[in-house]
Amino acid sequence: MNKLDAQRQKEIQQAEELLFAGPQALGFAKGLFHGHFVADWVMPYPRMPAAQQTELDKSLAELRQFLDEDLDPAEIDRQADIPRNVIDGLGRVGVLGATAPVEYGGLGLTQMANCKLLEEIGRRCASTSVFVNAHHSIGIRALLLFGTPEQNQKWLPKLVTGEQLGAFALTEQEAGSDAANVQMQARPTEDGAHFILNGEKRYITNAAIAHVLTVMARTPVPGSDKTAITAFLVTPDMPGFTMLDKRMPKMGIRGTATGRFALRDVKVPRENILGPPGKGLKVALTVLDFGRTTFGACCTGAAKTCLRLALEHANRRKQFNKTLGEFDLVKKKIARMAADAYAMEAMTTITASLIDRGLEDYMIETAMLKVFTTERLWECVNEAFQIYGGSAYFVDLPLERMLRDARINQIGEGSNEVLTSFIALVGMRGPGMEFKEIYDTMLKPTRAAIGRAWNAGMHRLGATVRVPDIPVRSTELRSFANQLGRLIWRFNFAVNRALITYREPILDMQLVQERIAGAAMDLFASTCVLSRQDEEIQLARRNGNSAPPDHSAADLFLRQSFRRIRGFLGGLTDNDDKSLLAAANSVLSKPRS
Ligand SMILES: Cc1cc2nc3c(=O)[nH]c(=O)nc-3n(C[C@H](O)[C@H](O)[C@H](O)COP(=O)(O)OP(=O)(O)OC[C@H]3O[C@@H](n4cnc5c(N)ncnc54)[C@H](O)[C@@H]3O)c2cc1C
Repeated sequence: MNKLDAQRQKEIQQAEELLFAGPQALGFAKGLFHGHFVADWVMPYPRMPAAQQTELDKSLAELRQFLDEDLDPAEIDRQADIPRNVIDGLGRVGVLGATAPVEYGGLGLTQMANCKLLEEIGRRCASTSVFVNAHHSIGIRALLLFGTPEQNQKWLPKLVTGEQLGAFALTEQEAGSDAANVQMQARPTEDGAHFILNGEKRYITNAAIAHVLTVMARTPVPGSDKTAITAFLVTPDMPGFTMLDKRMPKMGIRGTATGRFALRDVKVPRENILGPPGKGLKVALTVLDFGRTTFGACCTGAAKTCLRLALEHANRRKQFNKTLGEFDLVKKKIARMAADAYAMEAMTTITASLIDRGLEDYMIETAMLKVFTTERLWECVNEAFQIYGGSAYFVDLPLERMLRDARINQIGEGSNEVLTSFIALVGMRGPGMEFKEIYDTMLKPTRAAIGRAWNAGMHRLGATVRVPDIPVRSTELRSFANQLGRLIWRFNFAVNRALITYREPILDMQLVQERIAGAAMDLFASTCVLSRQDEEIQLARRNGNSAPPDHSAADLFLRQSFRRIRGFLGGLTDNDDKSLLAAANSVLSKPRS
């Protein structure tokens, strides 16, 4: 086996182990790739029970008051530090343990409610929202998800109040996008009571201010010469814990403390292992699912701020005797921002609700949310910046800070390129396996194989002939719903054709994957928008409002999203991929020219 094949085998084995542990309910995104519209997960639009909404409203009011009085995002950026009184205040209002069980001092909120809190912080200060995410969404998430009652009792009470802080340490020099390539070693002591950890971690948010870090390290697999990743709770007072860089100076989210540390023969007790030994990568990826969901919420908040700032300026600033908002090219930017902000909120709410409702496998949806919202926010900041013209460039306005802050989103917690590929490949795996069944049977027909292939064939055929029904309740949305159903049918057809045409090499064809992932993301985004719109219309009716709510931004989103989907699908057969790859290969092979 050559090196490339060995690497591919390793990746497939890791993916199998991570993603497909057992039978699970068909989620929305996986359903899309099969040509189904799994309506139950997305319609009707999720709403909080009244008691939960009251709790959330109370928490939101407290949070807003605190942020209005005590948070100064410009000063946080200037000083490159979030002051202790802000951290204490966040702890006091409960956001540092918002989803932690009440018995440990948390607020016991759902993900949906938590996302509303983070949207509020994301509206104002990206440093603060990233700090909260690093602590709560990922720092203590492994403990919340995988901690034993003893571990929870020992660690959580101080962490959920913010008296102590958490961090999540996965990234290393050689393990960035390739998260499975963790090199930090954890060797068991002879009596097995401890592990000795050695290695370095970099780019870790909160590293220097955390009291507890969830650290991923490689442990031997008993009875073999292999190693696997295991999650450990490490505290900085353990001998051998060495801070190499407390605050790496950086471009944006400057208030966060991004650090680098080494573990040198650090002795960690076995009882500090989180989750099953050897399953640390699954722990890490599950944790990141939560991080990506709150990422969506923070980006939504920031996009709403961009829209607000853009509206204020467009209505105030005059040139050529007109306000900027009177020019169509400015209107175009503003309309797109309003449409995107509406979609980002809808997508965040629905994704969070999947977690709350106990769907086991939502990693495609969280990846889609992360890529979609981070890309849209980047556009929103850029558009708002443009509307402000030269004034945006100066530090007395928040836009230059927001631009610097927003850039990390497309890189952190899984770069958007890696996640785009992931969305397409994990999504296509289901239909791909059905085609494999049919193909293998044609090569080696046995009675049992023919039965399985028949089932797979009927399943594929069923999805190919049926246009899924999108069950909206509002008649005025029927036309959009029908268009969405037809696009899902076309998407399924395109996925099938790509699988049949390219077979296994599709695993490496990222330009094809990008179009399939792009179409899937817009199908998900459109579904969320339609679901939200439907609910708002129904709610207005229930409340006796005769005039329908203004849905011009949502309508625009659907029209533009459908157009993008058609573009992605058309691009599968009409593209410049060959020329593009030839040009890239040519310059890559002569980097100095
Ligand atoms: C401010 C900040 C805070 C962070 N906080 C944390 C933290 O708290 N905990 C933690 O563990 N990590 C943290 N990180 C690390 C972050 O998650 C990584 O930077 C990220 O995963 C990317 O890894 P990398 O920087 O090594 O980039 P690389 O892996 O070198 O990738 C560079 C670029 O190459 C491209 N690329 C890579 N692989 C592929 C591929 N397969 N296909 C196509 N393109 C590809 C992408 O465009 C990518 O952006 C933080 C980083 C920053 C900058």
